[in-house]
Amino acid sequence: MSQPLARLLLVEDDEPTRHAVATNLIGHGYAVREASDGEEALRHWEEGRPDLVLLDLGLPGIDGLAVVRRIRRDATTPIIILSARDQERDKVAALDAGADDYLIKPFGMAELHARLRASLRRTLGGNIEVDGRVRIGPLELDPVRRRVAVDDREVHLTPRQYELLKALLGNVGRVVSRGRLLRAVWGVEYANEGHPDGRLSGLIVAEPGVGYRVRDEEEMRGARGS
Ligand code: CA
Repeated sequence: MSQPLARLLLVEDDEPTRHAVATNLIGHGYAVREASDGEEALRHWEEGRPDLVLLDLGLPGIDGLAVVRRIRRDATTPIIILSARDQERDKVAALDAGADDYLIKPFGMAELHARLRASLRRTLGGNIEVDGRVRIGPLELDPVRRRVAVDDREVHLTPRQYELLKALLGNVGRVVSRGRLLRAVWGVEYANEGHPDGRLSGLIVAEPGVGYRVRDEEEMRGARGS
């Protein structure tokens, strides 16, 4: 199989449900890691930093709401709740804790796929390709291989630089505050902090005292004088 559409973390303690959903998603081109409780979910989260989290609320041990809060301390990764809890207060609590969407069980797989696509489009600013890559002007980011290229030539980034760029690419043309960027990359190991590649510096604009942003396509064309 070629590149997955996105790397998902599926957290569900009911084994038959988890297996059925995982099998379906893998069949549709997603890479899926499975967790059966909150501890395992957070372990996978730390290790793999998935592109999106599908999360049951009623879990043994650490419950789903606590998992949402823990992920939100670090990152803006989309979280879709899959829960049998259909009370309005449960939905409000999950959304207030930082979940992006809420699907009530039993749900149809077609609806789950549509919500997944919508969430991934929002995160990656509408610049996500069917193969999961993000392309803006001459810049390409491959979230599966964690590779970045400018004009088809690979740019070597430290893990932290990569996470910063990925966070910026989700907000093309918009300023992202320093605090939000730090939250997006918090927890990423970075042993060898090097100097960013010069080819990237023309594509990222510092807004003094506020934060950073990636130029949009039009600005890139202008900046490169083509
Ligand atoms: Ca459950």
